Amino acid sequence: MARTSVEHSLLMRPPINITLPRNCVPAFPNKCIVCHCIPHSTLKIAHNAQNPLLAFFLPFLLMFGWSRVEVPVCRTCKLRFRLQRWGREVVVCALILASVWLIWPCFKGWHAGTRRIVGGVLVLLLISPYVVVEVFWPRFFNTYARKDSVDYAFASPGYAAEFHELNLPNVLNSEVSE
Ligand SMILES: [Zn+2]
Repeated sequence: MARTSVEHSLLMRPPINITLPRNCVPAFPNKCIVCHCIPHSTLKIAHNAQNPLLAFFLPFLLMFGWSRVEVPVCRTCKLRFRLQRWGREVVVCALILASVWLIWPCFKGWHAGTRRIVGGVLVLLLISPYVVVEVFWPRFFNTYARKDSVDYAFASPGYAAEFHELNLPNVLNSEVSE
C-alpha cells in the first residue's frame, strides 16, 4: 500500500500506543527508553487503573488499583526521565493552585453548588493546554492503565515497533503501522 500521509515533524508527533492485557508483564527491547543505548538498569513506574476524573472528585479511590511496570533506562538517563515524568505534573499543579488562589475570591458571594461547577470548569480549562502538550510533545514513555488493560505510549516509533514485535502474542490493540 502506498504511503500518502505526510510525515509528522519530529517535534509534533503524538505518542504511539500499544495496548496489552493488565495481567501481562510486558517485554521491553534491550534499549534505554530515552537514548536507546544498552541500559544496564531499570526504573519501576507505578500506574493506577482508576478513572482520573473520578479520582479527582473521589481521591480515596487512588488507594486502590495500582500496578507497576519495569522499564529499561540507563543510569545517565534516569534523572532526565524522572524530570520529564514529574516536571510536567509539578508545573500543572502549581498553575492550577495559583490560578484557583487568584480567581477564587471573585466567586465569594456565589452559591456553593454553582461555585463547585465553575471551579470544575476552570480546572478543566487550565488542564487543556497540558493535554495538548502531552499529545504533541509526548514523553519518552508513559502508561495509561484501565480495569483490564494497559496502554504503553512511546514517543519513538522505532522503539514502539520493537515493543510491538516482542509482545505480539499479547497485543490487544496497536498504533504501530504494519
Ligand atoms: Zn539512556
